[in-house]
Amino acid sequence: MSFKDILGHQRPIRLLQRAIQNEKVVNSYLFLGSEGIGKSRVALQFAKALNCLEGEHQIDGCDRCISCKKIDHRLHPDVSLIEPEGQTLKIDQVREMQRTLAYRPYEGRRRIVVLTAADRMMPHMSNVLLKTLEEPPRHTVIILLANSPKRILPTILSRCQSIRFNPLPSYLVSDWLIKEKRLEESEAHLLASLSEGSPGKALEIKEEIANIERRKLLKSWVGSKSLSIEEKEAWIESLPTQPSERESLHLILEMAKTLLRDLIVLKTSDKGFGMIHSDLIEEIKEVAERWNLSSLLKRMEILHQTSQAIRSNANPRLSLEAMMLSWAEG
Ligand SMILES: [Zn+2]
Repeated sequence: MSFKDILGHQRPIRLLQRAIQNEKVVNSYLFLGSEGIGKSRVALQFAKALNCLEGEHQIDGCDRCISCKKIDHRLHPDVSLIEPEGQTLKIDQVREMQRTLAYRPYEGRRRIVVLTAADRMMPHMSNVLLKTLEEPPRHTVIILLANSPKRILPTILSRCQSIRFNPLPSYLVSDWLIKEKRLEESEAHLLASLSEGSPGKALEIKEEIANIERRKLLKSWVGSKSLSIEEKEAWIESLPTQPSERESLHLILEMAKTLLRDLIVLKTSDKGFGMIHSDLIEEIKEVAERWNLSSLLKRMEILHQTSQAIRSNANPRLSLEAMMLSWAEG
C-alpha cells in the first residue's frame, strides 16, 4: 500500500508530499483526528516515502524495494510505531523512544517514530517527550498521533507542525466496507452512517451494532406514539446508563437517530431513496403512516439535544427521562 491507496485524507497527504518535494520535512509532526480515521496509516506511508530506495525526494513509497517492504511488515529497524499497552502510554515506552532516537538511522535515510495516543499520557511523560522535541536528533522525524489537542501540553503543541485529519465522508467509508471488508450493502451503509467518518470505528462497532434490536427500537420506542409510565421506565431501565457505558448508550441513541431519519426520509419521498435501514423498509413504512413530518422533526431535535447533553457529561438517566417527557408532549 502507498499514499495513493489511502482512503481520503488528500489534504494531509498533499502537505506531506509537498514537504518532501521542497525538502521542508520537519522533525516533529502532530496528526490530529478521531480514532480509527487513518492517521497511523498515513504516518507509515510517510515513513515509506522518506526511506524508499527508489530514490531521494520520492513523494510516495514504491512498494517494491526492501525498505518499503520492511516498513509494511513492521520490520524496519529505523521505523517504529509505539502504541499504548492498555489505556495509556507508559513511561518506559517514551524512554525507549528516547534511546532509539539517540542513534543515527541504521539503514534508512531517516529514523521515524510514530507515537500513537499522544493525548493519553501522564504529565511527567510529557516532560520527557518535550526534551526530545526540544532537541530533536538529526535525521529523525517524530510523529505524534492524537484525537484532540485538548490534552496535549501547549509546550508540546508549539514544537510540532499540526496536521488535521477530518472525518471521511460516509459514502467513502461505506464503499470501503463493501469492497475491502466484503460487507453487505445494507450493513455497510448502517455502519458508515454511525462511524462518524472513521473506518476504524465502523469495524469496531460492527458487533455491538449487530446486537442492537433495531425493529424493537423502531416500533416500541422511536416510532411509538404513546408509552405508559411503566413502559417508559422499562425502556430507560433496559438502556446502558452507567458512566462506564456512555459509549454504548451513545451508539444506541445514534442508532435511534438513523431510524428517525429514515422515517423522515420516507415522509418526504415515498420511494425511500437514500434510506439507511433499507432492509426494514416495510416496517418503517408502517410506522411512518402514523406520523406527520413536523412531529418527527421535533422528535429528532429532542433526541439530538439529549444525545449531545449525554456526550457532554449530563446524567444519562435524567436526560433520558426528560427526553421521554418532551417526546410525549410532541
Ligand atoms: Zn520503496
